[in-house]
Amino acid sequence: MPDACPVYRPRKPHLTPHHQCVQDHFDTFERVYEERFAKRYGFWRPYLKEVIYRYLECGDLHGGFARLVCQTCGRNFLLAYSCKRRYFCPSCHQKRVVEFGEWLCQHVLKAVPYRHFVFSIPKILRRFFLHDRKLLAALSRCAWESLKAFLHAAVPAPRATLGAIVATQTFGQWPDRYHPHLHVLATDGAFYGQGLFRVAPRFNLKDLEKLFRHSVLSMLLRKGKITRQFVRMMEGWRHSGFNVFCGERIYPHQKQSLERLAAYLIRASFAQERMEYLPEQAAVIYHSKDGKEQKTYDALEWIAAMGTHVPLRGEQMVRYYGEFSNRVRGTRRKAHQIADIPTILEPEISSAAARKNWARLIQKVYEVSPLVCSRCQGPLKVVSFIEDGQTIRKILEHLGLWLANARPQPRAHSPPGLRPLPEESHEDSYSQLPAREEEDYSQATPAHWDS
Ligand SMILES: [Zn+2]
Ligand SMILES: [Zn+2]
Repeated sequence: MPDACPVYRPRKPHLTPHHQCVQDHFDTFERVYEERFAKRYGFWRPYLKEVIYRYLECGDLHGGFARLVCQTCGRNFLLAYSCKRRYFCPSCHQKRVVEFGEWLCQHVLKAVPYRHFVFSIPKILRRFFLHDRKLLAALSRCAWESLKAFLHAAVPAPRATLGAIVATQTFGQWPDRYHPHLHVLATDGAFYGQGLFRVAPRFNLKDLEKLFRHSVLSMLLRKGKITRQFVRMMEGWRHSGFNVFCGERIYPHQKQSLERLAAYLIRASFAQERMEYLPEQAAVIYHSKDGKEQKTYDALEWIAAMGTHVPLRGEQMVRYYGEFSNRVRGTRRKAHQIADIPTILEPEISSAAARKNWARLIQKVYEVSPLVCSRCQGPLKVVSFIEDGQTIRKILEHLGLWLANARPQPRAHSPPGLRPLPEESHEDSYSQLPAREEEDYSQATPAHWDS
């Protein structure tokens, strides 16, 4: 490998406020969690520790990288792995949001009108979902069942079917509140007969809300979380605390609105640009979207709050129902004899298979902004993946990129001034390669993007 091999698209995650906050306080956070935060933010989850460690290494060459070679001028580049952790890593999550929106519009949705629904539950019930995240799946089904019953009544054609994509979000405008609710992208009507679609008439949201309330309370009762007495009490409330919002109809030609909404389904739990970290005070200031309000958090509290929005390993946050269910999509694919949904990744991947998957994934990810040489704009090709600790060190030392105190584990304090990257480096805040062993890669269909 020639000298002065530049780093392709170095991000500087260690300079972002979230990263600095986590880096500075993670040790303490882990130590005091049970005592200080378990009550409010749920039990300590060892998986969270793994997510945080990976996040701290995201985009860091010391964690491994790919070697790229320009097909025209032969120049070499290094590209660091990214952590691909959902929600906790703002950079990886944001990339996923964009890709998901595109994928949904291109490969899942059909050209019919849609509506955006939001289903929320009363405060008094939220804690059940914090302490037992599996209930979120049941909540998602409650929204689907209510919507299905409702639309079937609105479009009473025989064997009519509808489709919905239900996304679970656990945060509202202030990320420290655990606020489980559902964002639903549903067909505004139903499919029937051979490829026909009938739009739903205007309907009364209050009726849908009642269905949803009944469905959720029955579910919690069935699971032994609440008593009949509790249900009766809630049914007596004038304002139930259950709410269903419904947006304007989105027509098939409104492609941008649809893609924006599709992306919104898995939006990030916080916006890094609205966050400030004050190292001396060990505090985080977070601004509201309109910039009019702000809240100050203790740094440890910030990490705890962000941690509650990290899904379990492999936990599905988006579910596909009716016409969009995996089963129906599979049948549709077979019938058309074309793979209209790219199967990017196989289950049970071996190391060799994982490598091929990366290459495919990189191709997909960079279709929009392909990897090009900074000198001649020629196409770059991945020639190897460097993962072995010794080899990583040797190469980075040779290139003068090795930091003796590079992070084996998060420390209580940041290292003194990281060395600047070589001058030829591209500046880009976009992403790097996906890391391996990510929960995402265990499923055969692109539903993996959020499972
Ligand atoms: Zn070149
Ligand atoms: Zn990341």
